[in-house]
Amino acid sequence: MVIVAVIMMLVLGAVLGLGLGVADKYLKVEADVRVEKVTSLLPGYNCGGCGFPGCSGMAEALVSGDMDHIACKPCKADKREEIIDYLKNTPGPDGSTIEVKG
Ligand code: SF4
Repeated sequence: MVIVAVIMMLVLGAVLGLGLGVADKYLKVEADVRVEKVTSLLPGYNCGGCGFPGCSGMAEALVSGDMDHIACKPCKADKREEIIDYLKNTPGPDGSTIEVKG
């Protein structure tokens, strides 16, 4: 009886593992690495003052083109320039760059 239970668990684990492997291959969403970089350049207060729930939301809006300016009041001028330069000079997965205003 115990052997049957162990075999069932092994088969179930193999089937679920195979399912996860297939899902990972065909259902994965390509993330734009620029979002992570821009998030790291924002202050990280996650205060919501920009109208987004956190700095990563603001970064996603800038990278996706939903936002054309950096609406973060706590962001220092040098970081704003860094974000603008980074987005202007770093192409995304489709090869395009982004122009945002400070
Ligand atoms: S206002 Fe600036 S610090 Fe606050 S959540 Fe937005 S990006 Fe982050």
